[in-house]
Amino acid sequence: MKPRDRLRIAMQKSGRLTEPALELLNRCGLTFRQSRDKLFCFGEGEPVDLLLVRDDDIPGLIAQGVCDLGIVGRNVLNEFKGTATDGAAALTEWRPLGFGRCRLSIAVPQEMNYAQPHDLNGMRIATSYPALLNGWLKAQEVDAAVVTLAGSVEIAPKLGTADVICDLVQSGGTLVANQLRETEVLLQSEAVLAGPEALPTDERGDMIELLLKRLDGVIQVRESRLLLLQTSRTSLDAVTRLLPGGPQPTLLPVAGQPDQLMLQALCAGEVSWRQLEEIKKAGAREMFVLPVEKMLA
Ligand code: ATP
Ligand code: ZN
Repeated sequence: MKPRDRLRIAMQKSGRLTEPALELLNRCGLTFRQSRDKLFCFGEGEPVDLLLVRDDDIPGLIAQGVCDLGIVGRNVLNEFKGTATDGAAALTEWRPLGFGRCRLSIAVPQEMNYAQPHDLNGMRIATSYPALLNGWLKAQEVDAAVVTLAGSVEIAPKLGTADVICDLVQSGGTLVANQLRETEVLLQSEAVLAGPEALPTDERGDMIELLLKRLDGVIQVRESRLLLLQTSRTSLDAVTRLLPGGPQPTLLPVAGQPDQLMLQALCAGEVSWRQLEEIKKAGAREMFVLPVEKMLA
């Protein structure tokens, strides 16, 4: 393979992961010019390009070295790692990305008795994830027949092509609509940044490290809030005790008011009205909760 001086990231062309993946990359300072065939997007600022493909193709493209990284569901990545394809085992999850959350679950017809995995003995299970399902069946010592389907797995029991299913579930609405009941979770999934275990040793490796640092910043601040407030020195202890988790707050003097302090605290999650009201009762005032846009530690 010819050495490349630009990083290439594979992501889903159109589907659930497309928008959030693009938004995440934008937040990392990466913008793209879309080419006419819409398969390849040239990166404008940084030397990072995009390949837009079906999500199922992403792990293979990384394993073959066509792309350096990919944004793909853990379900798709792990299914690929479970196959005997060349290079499949050497792929890894560099970062969980916090969107596209779902789970791979066993679901059975509402009226079927199910108490434990052994109840699946002798059954036909329809799935698009045969490697993950087979791995789980083996670990549970269940002897069932795996029926691999490319799509519409949820209607297999009604069609009589399988007895139960193993499919992705998010809200559970699809299961209810098909009179199915979720009984076991095989995998908790979300979109991940996937790549080879060993980073390239050329400039692309440096670029990946830079990208990972930016990603960490974006992921960390996505849920962070900056809390600003004023408090008297006497109330400081009581106020500090009520602050939501995070690093030590910063204290600043308030000009002309020697007994007052301005407090600045980075909070790991949302700060609720109730929390604010409690902190106010403890003696704080002039309180602000601000979203954090960027952070570089
Ligand atoms: P294509 O193969 O054309 O790229 P797809 O139909 O396989 O698309 P989507 O339905 O867009 O893919 O799902 C992409 C990913 O979104 C899944 O692999 C999974 O990780 C995640 N996902 C989140 N919730 C769900 C859900 N309810 N059903 C299916 N996938 C979900
Ligand atoms: Zn797909």
